[in-house]
Amino acid sequence: MNLKVCKFGGTSMADKDAVMKVKDIVNSDKSRRFVVVSAPGKRFSGDIKVTDLLYRCFEERDIPAAFDALFSKIRQRYTELVEDLKLTIDIKKYLDEVEDGIKKCGRADYAASRGEYLTARIMAEVLGLEFIDASKIIKFTVKGVFDADTTNDLVANTLSINKGAVIPGFYGEMPDGSIKTFTRGGSDFTGAIIARGVMADVYENWTDVDGFMTTDPRIVHNPVLIDTLSYEELRELSYMGASVLHPDSTFPLQGTHIPINIRNTFNPEAQGTYIVKDVAGRSGRLITGIAGRKGFTTILIKKSMMNAEVGFCRKVLSVLENYNISLEHMPTGIDTMSLIIPDSDLVGNVEFELIEKIRGRVNPDLIYVYKDISLLAIVGHGMSHQAGTAAKVFMALATADINVKMIDQGSSEINIIVGVSTADLEKAISVIYHAFF
Ligand code: ADP
Ligand code: ASP
Ligand code: MG
Repeated sequence: MNLKVCKFGGTSMADKDAVMKVKDIVNSDKSRRFVVVSAPGKRFSGDIKVTDLLYRCFEERDIPAAFDALFSKIRQRYTELVEDLKLTIDIKKYLDEVEDGIKKCGRADYAASRGEYLTARIMAEVLGLEFIDASKIIKFTVKGVFDADTTNDLVANTLSINKGAVIPGFYGEMPDGSIKTFTRGGSDFTGAIIARGVMADVYENWTDVDGFMTTDPRIVHNPVLIDTLSYEELRELSYMGASVLHPDSTFPLQGTHIPINIRNTFNPEAQGTYIVKDVAGRSGRLITGIAGRKGFTTILIKKSMMNAEVGFCRKVLSVLENYNISLEHMPTGIDTMSLIIPDSDLVGNVEFELIEKIRGRVNPDLIYVYKDISLLAIVGHGMSHQAGTAAKVFMALATADINVKMIDQGSSEINIIVGVSTADLEKAISVIYHAFF
């Protein structure tokens, strides 16, 4: 039998109407046996995702009035959902257990994971499928690293195709029995783990758009849909801001030929986007997509004859390593090097300390910090061995009077990365989009 794993995102779990659409989708195809769910997302603009409420509950767990006010919102959302769906599940019992658990837990992970846990309990009744807790089948090592081998065996041995199951996304279990979550948006990763474990024919990822688009639909109105994307292109685009799918989602699927099919819960007729291992033979577009990410700082270092100074790079990078700072890109010239660093690593303006340390190590002629940098990625297998892509990108930016602060192209030639001021990011995405599509 054909076997499908379906992951439904937060908007697909937001209210009764969305849940009924999910029920129709699952019931319309017998091969949809395993269902992974997210916590309920926003119902309207300005609404708060359940996961965000849970993180806030954890932060306020020692302030009873604040905690109660937040938890009552969560209680109300789930109680309403169960009543609207006319279910028999004793949701009060589960909510009491979760409320108590958050007050006692030592880490935010337990609290954050409960959105998916409660939703999966509800969806098991809606779909008439067994509830299988992710903590029983998704495991981490003592160091907190996802344990792919153990997990894969457990998933394969626990899940029965005849019965099917609903599994909460976003978390697994540490060897000491505590809960650990993946990074935000991690239910996409859970879906891939389950698809790998049961060797599904396809991993369907159901969300609120018709598929993976050539750029962010919140920036460009109604962008062209991508019909086929490679695992590599997906990773580049989603890492750089195309938030429709978690960038790690393809890891569990490496070594298999399981495609990911992005689908729209609110328009199930649309065939969506297929993300596949190999796109050789795909008919030719120069680029596949454009994405952008805010929140970077550039440290520019200048020193005459830098290129001749053996060990220069190593000395600079060792300073970053001592501060546990990750480096996103490092374009270099003969006498210059630029360090592009995510702002999330520069807690408490540590860049000023860094600069002093770098001065001490390599004695540069000049060192300068640029804040509010954003990175744009122009991605596609079609651009390799094909002249003219970069020219088109930079012509579009120049015509729009956008100043380019950094350029980086990897030797794989699957992407061009361009740094611009954050104030120019959306305009830059828009003009590049219109130059290509
Ligand atoms: P879910 O809750 O289903 O996991 P997400 O909010 O994580 O959904 O992802 C879907 C959203 O991703 C879309 O509503 C859209 O606004 C956003 N998005 C960003 N970039 C893209 C893109 N290139 N293509 C499609 N959607 C995108
Ligand atoms: N609910 C989690 C989050 O908001 C995980 C997910 O939705 O994938 O990040
Ligand atoms: Mg998501």
